[in-house]
Amino acid sequence: MKNREVADILRKTAQLLDIKGDNPYRIRAYERASQTIESLTKDVEELAREGKLETIPGIGADLANKIREILKTGTLSTFEELKKEIPPVLLTFLEIPGLGPKKVKVIYEKYGITSIEDLEKACLQHKIAKLPGFGFKTEENILKGIRLFRERTGRRPLGEVLPLAEEVVFLLRNRAPVIDIAIAGSIRRQKETVKDIDILITTQQAETTMKVVAELPLVEEIIALGDTKTSVRLRSGIQMDVRVVEPEAWGAALAYFTGSKAHNIRIRELALERGLKINEYGVFRGEERIAGRTEEEVYAVLGLPFIPPELREDRGEIEVALQGKLPQLVNYEDILGDGHVHSKYSDGSASLEEIILKAEALGLSWVAICDHSQGLKIAGGVPVEELWKKKKRIEELNNRSQKVKLIMGAEVDILSDGTLDYPDEVLKEIDFVIAGIHTGFQQDERQITFRLVSALKHPLVHAIAHPTGRVLGEREPYAVNMEEVLEAAKTYGKALEINAYYKRLDLNDIYVKASVEKGIPLIIGTDAHHVDQMDFLKLGVGVARRGWCEKKDLLNTLSYEKVIEWSKKHKS
Ligand SMILES: [Zn+2]
Ligand SMILES: [Zn+2]
Repeated sequence: MKNREVADILRKTAQLLDIKGDNPYRIRAYERASQTIESLTKDVEELAREGKLETIPGIGADLANKIREILKTGTLSTFEELKKEIPPVLLTFLEIPGLGPKKVKVIYEKYGITSIEDLEKACLQHKIAKLPGFGFKTEENILKGIRLFRERTGRRPLGEVLPLAEEVVFLLRNRAPVIDIAIAGSIRRQKETVKDIDILITTQQAETTMKVVAELPLVEEIIALGDTKTSVRLRSGIQMDVRVVEPEAWGAALAYFTGSKAHNIRIRELALERGLKINEYGVFRGEERIAGRTEEEVYAVLGLPFIPPELREDRGEIEVALQGKLPQLVNYEDILGDGHVHSKYSDGSASLEEIILKAEALGLSWVAICDHSQGLKIAGGVPVEELWKKKKRIEELNNRSQKVKLIMGAEVDILSDGTLDYPDEVLKEIDFVIAGIHTGFQQDERQITFRLVSALKHPLVHAIAHPTGRVLGEREPYAVNMEEVLEAAKTYGKALEINAYYKRLDLNDIYVKASVEKGIPLIIGTDAHHVDQMDFLKLGVGVARRGWCEKKDLLNTLSYEKVIEWSKKHKS
């Protein structure tokens, strides 16, 4: 047993005791023991074997006995008893931001609620607000917490799951007799968060292939092992389904399992209108399969061109495709620069030289070095004197470096009153000023919108960083009227960022599409604080494609000279 598992049981015991309203000292003892075990650098099992449990600070004879019991039986009798008294699902409630043991206890005792769905329903019916000590504000917070909790547990950021899926594909290509292999599902559509991994395969040796899948090092648990479908849970907790399909149905299966559901429903309707039937095995006229081998062929018999996976959301792509007016989506290869990277000058870990090397490896020709501004002390904000040193250094490097040019940038904090964190005479000297909100997230919609619009209006600002402020699974967007922000960006000719950091992806696809429709320039920035994070550029391109971006919509597709030209033109 690992330290984490022991700590987990101790913590859950503490939480159940807390919900029960047990003795605070007892609760605290379990809590502390849990924290101690979790932060141990030695294996707790080994310490137990050596009879040294009591030497761990904070672990007395009593707790040592409990730990020995957990190690021996895999659980704790106290914990098992408590679970009979209090439904353990209430422990999940504690993971909802905004809910503590006292509140969980009241909700359970008053209404007997034991599922998140029922809790949500009770909130929507304002039954929770009526409870003593709750009120409407709490109810609203619980609803918000449920949303965040679902985001966190049900769906994972694409940036976390995509590398796992790619590793599986790599391993299967090398270890199993596969002919075709592809990632389908929401990963293929580049959705910002995904629920599971769907992989399709063609092979002549299905059984062998499925065995290889089950034995992959990433697999923790086999849910179902079959000839044509295997479901496993990966060690990271995410479920993966691998299906073997016949080559004649490859395209149909790929389309079917890529989704989205809404897109597939529309496609099915189109087929019906033409007297055809479509499913994961192909497109059929009566009994005869008339298409299925490739996706192109499947779309073609329905009178459609190939629709890129990122567009398959039933957001108008089918109508546009029928008219032959699908956008020419931007490709990763079109991207020449990264619009937002932090260096050692603020809280980044890389030197300018290291950033140049990484950019070169990525095939980029420019990088905007946007370090935090002076007031943002916790993020290593750059004081003005340092800024001049940085500018000089960038000029030196640019004279030397042929392939990659650096752009003297700054990520300037938009202060609570809408003013900027560098004076104008400083901003004037910066070639790419991206302004963003980093404090005062709690302000009301009017004030937040005012701050962003003021920044857009400022003649020395070029773009807005992470415009809505959301962090996937951690922080909801701040209250902001995005329509007004988009309108201001359009009016003043300023750019909006697609922040490509995997937890942000902000703007999201919806606002990207709205920006494209309004003709607002967009710029992808990885917000990298470490050179490895510059790889997130790909995720930014995914968002851009989901937002119907063409090459012309992104400043990243301009050459270094053209970006500088754009920057000069947009500074008055
Ligand atoms: Zn920022
Ligand atoms: Zn940043």
